Order: sequence, then structure tokens, then C-alpha cells
Amino acid sequence: MENKELTLAQQKKKDLFIQKTNGYDKLADGELALITEYCEGYKTFLDQGKTERECVDYAIALAEAAGFRPLVRGMELKPGDKVYANNRGKALNLAVIGKKSLAEGAVIGAAHIDSPRLDLKQNPLYEDKEMAYLKTHYYGGIKKYQWATIPLALHGVVILQDGTSVAVRIGEDPGDPQFTVGDLLPHLAADQAKRTMGDIITAEQLNIFVGSQPFDKEEGSDRVKLGILSILHEKYGMVEEDFLSAELMAVPAAKAVDIGLDRSVIGAYGQDDRVCSYACLKALLELDVPETTAVCVLADKEEIGSEGVSGMQSAFFDTFMEDLCDSQKVPLRACYEKAFCLSADVSAAYDPNFPEAYEVRNSAFLNYGVCISKYTGARGKSGASDASAELVGKVRRLFAENGVVWQLAELGKTDQGGGGTVACYMANRNIDTIDAGVPVLSMHAPFETTSKLDCYMTYKAMKALYNS
Ligand code: MN
Ligand code: MN
Repeated sequence: MENKELTLAQQKKKDLFIQKTNGYDKLADGELALITEYCEGYKTFLDQGKTERECVDYAIALAEAAGFRPLVRGMELKPGDKVYANNRGKALNLAVIGKKSLAEGAVIGAAHIDSPRLDLKQNPLYEDKEMAYLKTHYYGGIKKYQWATIPLALHGVVILQDGTSVAVRIGEDPGDPQFTVGDLLPHLAADQAKRTMGDIITAEQLNIFVGSQPFDKEEGSDRVKLGILSILHEKYGMVEEDFLSAELMAVPAAKAVDIGLDRSVIGAYGQDDRVCSYACLKALLELDVPETTAVCVLADKEEIGSEGVSGMQSAFFDTFMEDLCDSQKVPLRACYEKAFCLSADVSAAYDPNFPEAYEVRNSAFLNYGVCISKYTGARGKSGASDASAELVGKVRRLFAENGVVWQLAELGKTDQGGGGTVACYMANRNIDTIDAGVPVLSMHAPFETTSKLDCYMTYKAMKALYNS
């Protein structure tokens, strides 16, 4: 091939046209093995962290093993120091102090560790026709019908009357019972079939079946509910009122697995946005002494607008950064104005089964690498942080210099919908921010799919950021 002379048109095309190529054609020697190895660690992260609390616990365990320690206000910090701050067990900020002053800015990777799920309501347990159920209130944007007739696990925490905190995780270990939401048999679904998607299963039908065995042979009502409460009391010391001070959630019980005969894809719950969270975290944990202070943000509540004390809009992040800046007598605003943030969140991968929803010239493709989005938002870019051309230029150069396979895309057709990330909340702080993350198929479904190559390239992108 190399000796074959190109015609003028062929040469011009090569020089002038954008080259969109499958990432497998661009891999360096030996990189395929690195992709496989990286994704094994990622699958473990997915199985260990099915809630934001579990992600924080697991991330701290990994961080402490890598030499990180809790940030204490006023502590002296020198280049190479590794610190973290745990936000109420639900969000986590980590940093590796760089050689340069924080007056020169910081490089930040910001991802989120909350995912769509079914939260239990505060008065969840009831019995109907001698079957016991838990009422739920869905969290995040879901297609409700997808959450029926799949095995579910119950995770979370219960604060008992005396203040004791009890961790709950049922349905993950071999032999554990699991749970499920029912659906109507097709034989009787004539009316249901006429409903629109949002009403096929309504929010108030997302009731989780938890049992059917009466407590004993005595007469009386609610014997099944009593049987369930007795089990909970025996196992966790809880009574019905303790549900009021609980955060319990049903998540898909399935474990992360390889998908496809060639194992090129990962299928799992909660990949939005644990896929980018793991990339940011792993890249940060591997740092030695970076030039610029590197920060990893694992935020909560992105799926419901980044609100609240553990979301990206919370001052917790500013407090963390200010504590770092104070150790160098640098004003926070001076750090922010020179900082650079990759808002690491997923994008939609083009799905050939639903071409009507995508605009093919501006879609992200499986195996084409980490996806930069100049802007997100809905309709006329509403709610978007629209990164500047200069910033896109900077990221292009960064990725090119570091062998990162990347693509640039929008979510789908302009008027089909849209979505947001934490990018706008970082940009609002006067931090240059752009979105970059893994394209996902079946996003927000109980079982999402990502390409291993794209997962690895996102990690490589974060490494490039942290070493810049
Ligand atoms: Mn996300
Ligand atoms: Mn999401």
C-alpha cells in the first residue's frame, strides 16, 4: 500500500477531510491487553459500588491504599501530597498537590456516582391481598416499564431510633433473596397496550414484591407484612418507624459482565456515570507528583439536577478547593480562573436500531473513543455550558499529544430531547469546562452497555488531563 501513489484527489481528500476511524484501527501495540486489564478493574468497581455511598466507601479504600489521607483544614501540603474529603458519605473530592502553585490553576475531572434507581418511599411497606410490597419513588430519568420483571437488590442505610446506622445490602451475595416489580401478562394487557410509554407502568405501580408468607396461623390482618417486619427486626433491629429515617433503594441485581462473543462491550447497571468516575479515580490514584494540582470530583445528585448538599452545586467543592488554596495562601478565585475541568460524563452512542433519534453526522459511535461534547442542553442549547472554540482546540491538542482516541458529538437529533451534566456548575465558578466521556448504549436503562475501548480511552484522557 505504502508505495502506491495517490491521485491528486485522493491526496487532497486525505489532507482535507476529517478522518473518522474505528478506534481499533488506531490502537498502539499492546494496548488491547491494557484495555482488557483496565476493564476488569472497572467491572469490580461497578459491582462494589451500586449506590453513591458504596462508591465513596470503595473509592476511599482504593485511595487510602494508594497513600491518600483525609484533608484536615490548615494542614501543610507539599507537592505529591494526596488528600481526600468525604462529603457525608455520598460524594468525594480527591487531590494530588502539584509542583506549581494553585495560583496557576488546577486540573479537575468531575464525574458523578449517583445513578437512576428506585428509592423506597418513607412509608414503603404494605400488604395487599396477602402479598407484601414496598412503595418506591423513582430517582432520575427512567423509562419506568424497564424496571418491571427484572431481579432487584436492596441497598442503603437505616438510621434507627437510637441513632445507630445500619447498612443494608440484600440480593448481591450468592444465595441472597432478590426482589422484583411485577408486570401484567400479555393475555390481559389489551388496555395497558393502549397507554403511552410513561403510563405502561405508572410510578405508583413500581411496587417491589417482598414476601407472601403469613407470620403464623393466627387470625388477623397484615400477617404477611408482620412476617416481613419480623425478618427486618431480627436482621437489622429495625421497626416500621425506622423506614422514616432510611435511605433504601432498589437497584438491578445483575453483575457487570462482558457482552458479545468478542467480549468487546461491558453490560452493567449504573455505568452512567460510574464509567467516567472510575476513569477519573484510577487516573488520579496513579499520579506521582504532577505539574499542576490534580483534582477528582465524584459528585452525587447529578441525575436530579446536582442540587443539595452532596450535589455539584454545593459549596462543599469550593470549601475543599479553598482549603487547598489556603495552604498556599492563594485566593480561591485566582485558582478557579486558571483551572481547567473535564466534566466527565457519558454521551449517547449511536444505536443502529433507532436511527431516527440520531443525527448521524454528529453522533458518537461505539469504539470511536472518548466523546467530547462542546455543549449539552436541550432545544436551543438550553441549560448548556457551551465550551469555547479555544477550549475545544486545547483538548484536541491534549488528546492528540497523548494518543487518546476521541470523537466529538452531540447527544442526538436537536429537537429529540437533550440532557445536562455538571459542566455548567463548574463553568459557573469561572472554571474553563468541557464535557468528555464514554458513549453509552441504552443509557439510564437497568442494564447499560459501553465499549471497552471507549472506557479505556476515557481513562487515558483523564491521565492526559492530570499530567498536563
Ligand atoms: Mn451522567
Ligand atoms: Mn444520567
